[in-house]
Amino acid sequence: MTERFKVVIVGTGFSGLGQAIQLEKAGITDYVILEKADEVGGTWRDNSYPGCACDVQSHMYSFSYEQNPDWSRSFSPAPEIFQYLKDVTDKYRLRRKIRFGVELTGASWDDTTRRWHVQTKSGDLEAQFVVSGVGGLHIPQVPKLPGIEKFKGQTWHSAQWNHEYDLRGKKVAVVGTGASAVQFVPKIAPDVAELTLFQRTPPWIMPKPDHAMPNWAKTAFRRIPGVQRLYRNALYWFLEVRAVGFNGHPAIMKAGEVIAKRHIGKGVKDPKLRKKVTPDYTMGCKRVLISNDYYPAIARSNVDVNTDGVREVKAHSVVDGNGVEHEVDAIVYGTGFKVTDALEYLDITGIDGRDLAKEWATEGMHTHKGISVAGFPNLFFLLGPNTALGHNSVVFMIESQARYVVDAIKLADSRGAAALDVRPGVQEKFQREIQDKLVKGVWTQGGCKSWYLDAKGVNRTIWPGFTWRYWLETRKVDPSDYELSGRAS
Ligand SMILES: Cc1cc2nc3c(=O)[nH]c(=O)nc-3n(C[C@H](O)[C@H](O)[C@H](O)COP(=O)(O)OP(=O)(O)OC[C@H]3O[C@@H](n4cnc5c(N)ncnc54)[C@H](O)[C@@H]3O)c2cc1C
Repeated sequence: MTERFKVVIVGTGFSGLGQAIQLEKAGITDYVILEKADEVGGTWRDNSYPGCACDVQSHMYSFSYEQNPDWSRSFSPAPEIFQYLKDVTDKYRLRRKIRFGVELTGASWDDTTRRWHVQTKSGDLEAQFVVSGVGGLHIPQVPKLPGIEKFKGQTWHSAQWNHEYDLRGKKVAVVGTGASAVQFVPKIAPDVAELTLFQRTPPWIMPKPDHAMPNWAKTAFRRIPGVQRLYRNALYWFLEVRAVGFNGHPAIMKAGEVIAKRHIGKGVKDPKLRKKVTPDYTMGCKRVLISNDYYPAIARSNVDVNTDGVREVKAHSVVDGNGVEHEVDAIVYGTGFKVTDALEYLDITGIDGRDLAKEWATEGMHTHKGISVAGFPNLFFLLGPNTALGHNSVVFMIESQARYVVDAIKLADSRGAAALDVRPGVQEKFQREIQDKLVKGVWTQGGCKSWYLDAKGVNRTIWPGFTWRYWLETRKVDPSDYELSGRAS
């Protein structure tokens, strides 16, 4: 007998857990959560590299209904965020609903029963609704360096940190200078003998307004009603105004560039190195990073920033684009994640056997509000296409989406319908509107290539604009956006 559920949720990061909590709050308890790993936490379970922390203030980068007065810092380290997610899981008694070690491989829509057949590596399930919380930055992107198979040393990706290997006194190559590398390079640089940092494009880096949370603030958050909410709201608006700069107002970004260049000047005294690490594209085109220790770290005498690319890897060395051989014991990839192709490995088929991965590979990732896809009824994405952010906390977006999903389920239930499918015209209109905005924004106009863009150069990642607008647009499901069908059993 195939087990049947009203809802199957996939993933136990902020998305999957947030969805389960909203279902519980709505009194929908016939659901199961599939998690391929053996613990909750997603991003914050996997990324255990030295220096890993959030780069949106913790008091904002957390659930609005589960505020934590005890964050140790304004930008808390990964283990604390991981613990927060475990605590939330326990508080809402979600473990009883989670199937650990169960990996979703695909799902197919049966238009006769109007249900999903959910395939996992450990057997099949059946569900009326499927909610994907599989994560946007989850599958490591590892470049195929020529000759890497000959390398005799250690290699790993930042999201799969090798804690067994002692980097002290070793010669290390780091490939990539994105958000993770900017966090771990300062932590390993003082310990390693030599660090060669292969940089393709330098990131814009702003000073990080990080500080320990004083005890009086923690006490106030805990004891005085409303204080933490006030603080969170202030943070929200402080972050939110930055959306103006990203959306076609490069003058604001220029002001940011002045601050960032001064930041480089303070940390790096060597003019040659300064030039290497100063970006030549508009700030915001790629993710803007924050750090106070990255520039001093790369200015160390044992660190070399190499911009010549990797020509080849040999048994004990990396050969750069100029043919210079760098002897190394380990290669660490800070090369980010699969993004616009992240769901290609899932075999999801909708009405008439339509293949989601194939459609998205040829036409780009199309959704309505980043959540539902025409032709794939009762399937919802959390943190789906075009709902990531460069300026605020994605947890805010996830909460809006989880609430929208509950509203959609309630809509189907209240009409006695088995299924709801977004109308193609509604989805097209949404796509046109956001793409019109995106092409005017800094991500397209800023003069860079980034992981925000798909293979055709179309931005399938970022929500263009204010997050309160997204909140407004997802507050209630518009019944006329969906075609309801079938009779609920
Ligand atoms: C190092 C790092 C720092 C970040 N910092 C910030 C920040 O400061 N601010 C911000 O807004 N965002 C940040 N992000 C983005 C971050 O990914 C999101 O904020 C958020 O954690 C995403 O949550 P999620 O639940 O959607 O996905 P994830 O946290 O990735 O969780 C996905 C879960 O699904 C499970 N899963 C995946 N596929 C399957 C499958 N097929 N079957 C079963 N289970 C599956 C995974 O094991 C995982 O547990 C950061 C990302 C990284 C990598």
